[in-house]
Amino acid sequence: MSNVDWQGKHVTVAGLGVSGIPAARALHGLGAVVTVVNDGADERSRAQAAELEAQGIAVRLGDGDTLPESTELIVTAPGWKPGKPLFAAAAEAGVPVWGDVELAWRLRGRDGREPAPWLAVTGTNGKTTTVRMLAAILEAAGLRTAAVGNIGVSLLDAVLGEETYDVLAVELSSYQLHWAPSLRAHSAAVLNLAPDHLDWHGSMAAYAADKGRIYEGNRVACVYNAADPATEDLVREADVEEGCRAIGFTLGTPGPSQLGVVDGILVDRAFVRNRQKQAQELAEVADVRPPAPHNIANALAAAALARAFGVEPAAVRDGLRDFRPDPHRIEHVADLAGVAYVDDSKATNTHAAEASLAAYDSIVWIAGGLAKGATFDELVTGCAKRLRGVVLMGADRALIREALARHAPEVPVVDLDRTDTGAMSEAVREAARLARPGDTVLMAPACASMDMFVNYNKRGEAFADAVRARAAESV
Ligand code: ADP
Repeated sequence: MSNVDWQGKHVTVAGLGVSGIPAARALHGLGAVVTVVNDGADERSRAQAAELEAQGIAVRLGDGDTLPESTELIVTAPGWKPGKPLFAAAAEAGVPVWGDVELAWRLRGRDGREPAPWLAVTGTNGKTTTVRMLAAILEAAGLRTAAVGNIGVSLLDAVLGEETYDVLAVELSSYQLHWAPSLRAHSAAVLNLAPDHLDWHGSMAAYAADKGRIYEGNRVACVYNAADPATEDLVREADVEEGCRAIGFTLGTPGPSQLGVVDGILVDRAFVRNRQKQAQELAEVADVRPPAPHNIANALAAAALARAFGVEPAAVRDGLRDFRPDPHRIEHVADLAGVAYVDDSKATNTHAAEASLAAYDSIVWIAGGLAKGATFDELVTGCAKRLRGVVLMGADRALIREALARHAPEVPVVDLDRTDTGAMSEAVREAARLARPGDTVLMAPACASMDMFVNYNKRGEAFADAVRARAAESV
């Protein structure tokens, strides 16, 4: 597949954006006749179009649904919905549709170098963290590697760039997997499966099926979450290479062919000589930062993929020790008056917030924002006993308030009735008032941020700024 003759091939790139522009340039560089189509025609798109046109790439703005004549292949931005008329037209005309990941996969090895195998990670939550942990472990093992995909280096750069890699740690979203039918990873992990992006996929079954594609054709290991049977089901349904193994990870004692935790030690009972009787120590729970349960799970998944690639136990430990979490993911901001302030702004859905709420014993929870159709009953029921109090803000805060009234009526709730950016200072002030020494003030909103902030980064920064301002006052 990598030896497609691109010279003169008519390729339509769907979507000007983070994946479309590099794809258009790469294909043009290979000699393809490229046309970019885009729904919008705003000022930014016009500027981008002008740049591409100057390089000889045609761009059609404001018309993302007409299939340009003589198109032989569409390369789409991953976010474009499968139901778009452009794809119906492509199906009718027998034109294949690839996503950015499919393109990168097919372009591997074009320069004659042996292509680096991919260790791939997907899941509803924890992808970035796990891929970064994996890259840290592979580096500690002395391998030339990079964290690629949704993070760090783009897949196209990794595949076409100057750098030579021994192995890649690849983060893949459900959208990217949908559009990557021929991807075949060395080994892959699905970390967890909770309802998300259902408006795009159409149903939970379709979402799960797209996630499950990551296991197709795996050569060495399909890594699943023993606590999330849906991930194991996906392994069972996958068509893999002969000899490929199903490897589970668990926060409990591992069975044969699993990685797990015994007395504060991460252990491997999968990649050892006698897995019926033996387990190999990999690292201590304290080597994982932060040592929250879901993050230990991420570390075990990363370790499983690294071990599937033949990495030695000591490198797993060293890599986990080297790993630094990305900002706004259970980030400890400060301790004030015996209270810890933690920024988990990246908890943009209930499944993520559930994980961080499970990591602390006594919590003042700051929550609210855009709910994206979620319900909060299960989340509130699970953490009610550990809530000292709750501070709510944002557009959909009433949904959380109502769930709290149903399942945790005794917990004090401060409803800020605000959606302006300045609300965060007030939220932190109210949370400080509710907290007692030993508590954690946890900003894990279970909602998207765009009602109040540009993105989750800005929301996290606003929280940290408000906490630091209080720290400065109290000096
Ligand atoms: P992703 O790349 O999938 O969005 P991240 O690693 O950026 O995942 O983590 C996003 C958020 O999801 C974190 O801030 C945390 O609240 C939560 N999270 C991380 N790992 C897990 C996990 N294994 N299970 C559930 N929630 C998790």
